[in-house]
Amino acid sequence: MKICELLKQDEPTFSFEFFPPKNYSSILELGINIGQLLKLNPSFVSVTYGAGGSTQEASFKLTDYINNKIGLTTMAHYTCVNATREKVAEDLEYFHEINIENLILLRGDPPKGETKFANESGEFHYASELIEYASALDMFCIAAAGYPEKHPESPSVEGDIYYLKYKVDKGVDFIVTQLFFDNQYYFDFVKRARAAGIEIPIIPGIMPITNFRQIKRFTEMCGATIPQTLVEKLTPYQDDLKKTYEIGVEFAINQCRELLDHGVPGLHFYTLNKSRATIDIFSSIK
Ligand code: FAD
Repeated sequence: MKICELLKQDEPTFSFEFFPPKNYSSILELGINIGQLLKLNPSFVSVTYGAGGSTQEASFKLTDYINNKIGLTTMAHYTCVNATREKVAEDLEYFHEINIENLILLRGDPPKGETKFANESGEFHYASELIEYASALDMFCIAAAGYPEKHPESPSVEGDIYYLKYKVDKGVDFIVTQLFFDNQYYFDFVKRARAAGIEIPIIPGIMPITNFRQIKRFTEMCGATIPQTLVEKLTPYQDDLKKTYEIGVEFAINQCRELLDHGVPGLHFYTLNKSRATIDIFSSIK
């Protein structure tokens, strides 16, 4: 099923993101958590590619398994990292062969310790180039990333939207955003996007806070802000995972409710391969 079709329906989509597990125990854990999340009947799930040092093979295998063995509509993440035209052609053909109809096409991040993205093959430098290539094949529903607080490398919000529009015009069907905690960033981002002529659905990306130290690391990397009031609530409980969970899930429930009240086209949960927080949020908002 193409996600573009799901997005034409009146109801918002609910989707979950997973990453390929690295060892035996995390494979088991992911299996159990996917089993739990299946009960929520998600509109689609997505599988990351190369993020956090995972291998392409693991990503492809998990994508194939979830799409074809579990039978959930799956969106494969795919990046420009080490991409040559030949490799991209082969990989996209592989996705087509395993019945993957949905891709989120990304640039990828520079290797650890480097600040500039340089594709050694010299062939794909920005997500827009991958999107142009894949869109010409006319086989996939294509998503791209958007940044409510701008991409960390963008010098300004105006420049960020300029290149987002450029990317969208190459053949993007919908946008999934980077995580954010203050909904105002999302509302302003959508306003800027619409003013720039971007008309496609923009699905907010939600990350429930269950571990404050981990979230601080993530937000430092991706340039998202944790609202000061939330920092003040969480700081006294940095080492108390139970209390952090309570505060984080309550915050996410309110965040999701407000987004749904504003008519968002869907909610995309960064699950971190866990299920409990997403299930608790779901049971409160559905
Ligand atoms: P681009 O759209 O190419 O933009 C990158 C930067 O270049 C931006 O600052 C943009 O403004 C600028 N830019 C774009 N075009 C031009 C141009 N022509 N000239 C000059 N500047 C330009 N990473 C992974 O490795 N694996 C994943 O699975 C993954 N999944 C993700 C899913 C989501 C929903 C999100 C939000 C991010 C994900 N990422 C993933 C992280 C992503 O790869 C990084 O954020 C990366 O730094 C940028 O990717 P992009 O596709 O947004 O890049």
